[in-house]
Amino acid sequence: MLDRSTIWPYEDGEPGEFYYQRYAHPAGVEAERALGELEGGHALLFPSGSGAATALILTLLEPGKTLGLADGAYYGTGVLIRMLERWGIRLVEFDQTGAPPDEADLVWLEAPSNPLLTMPDFEAAAGHRAQVVCDSTAATPVHLRPLEHGADFVLHSATKYLGGHHDVLLGAVVCKEQDDYDGLFELRRRTGIVAAPDAAWLLSRSLKTLEVRVARQTATAKELARRLEAHPAVERVRYPGFGGMMSFDVSRGAEAARRVETSTRLITNATSLGGVESVLETRARWEAGRVPDNLVRLSVGLEDVNALWQDLERALVT
Ligand code: PLP
Repeated sequence: MLDRSTIWPYEDGEPGEFYYQRYAHPAGVEAERALGELEGGHALLFPSGSGAATALILTLLEPGKTLGLADGAYYGTGVLIRMLERWGIRLVEFDQTGAPPDEADLVWLEAPSNPLLTMPDFEAAAGHRAQVVCDSTAATPVHLRPLEHGADFVLHSATKYLGGHHDVLLGAVVCKEQDDYDGLFELRRRTGIVAAPDAAWLLSRSLKTLEVRVARQTATAKELARRLEAHPAVERVRYPGFGGMMSFDVSRGAEAARRVETSTRLITNATSLGGVESVLETRARWEAGRVPDNLVRLSVGLEDVNALWQDLERALVT
């Protein structure tokens, strides 16, 4: 049963486990327990991945501190950190396939990065003096458990694979240490950056199918990446060998890439990733200058692999 209460009666005149929704609610605790188990740490939910990132930065940094961000990371994370620069937080970007810069007081990785699909050098990051955050949205705990590779925090846009159905906006942070969890929990309940029970309930529903969804998406994505690589209208494919997200550069430039994204019929021309329905889009509309203007990001869903390939093939010749 989904309990949407904002209050629960005190027990013998004292607050029990649940008493006010901003502090904790049953659907949230249930989903956090399941996600914490999957990642091997202590999970906290937030209303979006960006909300989770904001809460984490506000908890871990203060004016004068520097955040070292993987330079291929989700562009919105960089935009968010730049917004926080006026509160005195500094941003340095670095190539996550090597060591983080010495000056970083917090290291922020993304595995694999969206949409350039680089993987971090976990060993180099773990050897740095600073705490390490790994945005593992695209990898999911099915493929990677960053806390076992030296990360202190795992971040998810649960809007993507964890939610998995394009029907819930949600974020999560999983902490390795109880102390870090306590600090983040305190900031969450004071700032009110709290996920609603409905969203948490949808996450619990979705986690039950995470493994089968991601296994199928990986199998299909591997095959599509292989076929795209051999296609004459494709210049380059980026795929790390696991997961459902890839990007490819269409030959003959931006106009041709635009024709591809507007020509598919089975695959929806939309943003986001990680759902059961495949979506694709050119990314230059959002992050021009950071990505090739002929780059198309594809998030593979659960459709039949041959039906998806037919759709892509048809779009690539138009
Ligand atoms: N991290 C990654 C890798 C993402 O792709 C996104 C969204 O696209 C986010 C974080 C932000 O998550 P949300 O859209 O749930 O705020």
